[in-house]
Amino acid sequence: MKPAVFIPEPIAACGLERLEAHCECLAPWLEGQAIDVEEALAAADALLVRLFKVDEGVLQRAPRLKVIAKHGVGLDNINLGQAAARDIPVLYTPEANANAVAEHAMALILALARQLGAAEAALRGGCFAARIEFTGVEVSGRVLGIVGLGRIGRRVAHKAGVGLGMQVLGHDPYVAAADYDGPALLVDSLDDLLGQVDFLTLHVPLTPETHHMLDAAQIEKLRPECRVINTSRGAVLDEVALAAALARGRIAGAAVDVFAQEPPLATHPLCAAPNALLTPHIAGMTDRASEQMALDAAQGIVDVLQGRTPKYPVEPDGV
Ligand code: NAD
Repeated sequence: MKPAVFIPEPIAACGLERLEAHCECLAPWLEGQAIDVEEALAAADALLVRLFKVDEGVLQRAPRLKVIAKHGVGLDNINLGQAAARDIPVLYTPEANANAVAEHAMALILALARQLGAAEAALRGGCFAARIEFTGVEVSGRVLGIVGLGRIGRRVAHKAGVGLGMQVLGHDPYVAAADYDGPALLVDSLDDLLGQVDFLTLHVPLTPETHHMLDAAQIEKLRPECRVINTSRGAVLDEVALAAALARGRIAGAAVDVFAQEPPLATHPLCAAPNALLTPHIAGMTDRASEQMALDAAQGIVDVLQGRTPKYPVEPDGV
């Protein structure tokens, strides 16, 4: 009998095909598959998840589980400690969508600089004359602060520094100057960086250390011209404090792709905040990234089930 893989959320066809060659795929989103989540968990030898929450209860209801693959990077929806306690390896796809997220961060920087969202809404609303209100800021020569110089942050540094001619500052306590040869100037103290930047973009994982790392007090250190971009995880910043800062014009704008609670409620303070550009957690979703995430996650599952070492294992305490 083929091992069963439970795939609660849709993935690209190429990943499904790779799995189907070796496994039975339990995918309730596929036409003709009327599988109950509980039945699928009970039968699953492997779990391939996007944002599906793998908490202690889910792990208990999946007694046969031998491997969990994350389609993407952020692992905050998986209880890694519980998986380790049950000796279930966790895999992820760190290379597959890094460029996609970096490109989205660039799109958000430029969209904020030129107020694309508001300008388009004005035009569609029949208010061409409002163009006078949409004088943009040029990003060339402006200072971009990057928090987190990992796979995504480094790509943003290159695109912004080399491509757009921005001055790039980077803060990452885990990156030694000797190991970094990109265009960002490394700044040891986050406080020092916050006071110098025209744009601030966050590229850290959500951990106890990074939770609300941009809170009300840190936002006060930003310059009024600063625009904040968050494509990491919603809870890395204090969303209420960010919305309040936008409402009183304390900072110039914010673009947010990720929310502490997803989907955000219609009453979420950022939904009503001025100069806020919001996208529904799409930074890592492109044609290429979606296929590569599905392929990498599928291949990792097949490797573990067939006794091979997977390419992208997660350490039990995170990556
Ligand atoms: P990565 O692990 O390659 O890089 C993260 C960097 O953050 C590391 O260099 C690490 O040293 C640094 N870091 C950790 N704690 C820090 C701190 N306190 N201050 C400053 N730097 C710190 O990860 P990545 O691939 O670049 O991804 C970053 C995050 O982006 C992911 O954890 C995920 O949550 C998010 N992400 C979002 C999307 C999306 O669709 N919006 C897609 C992919 C990833």
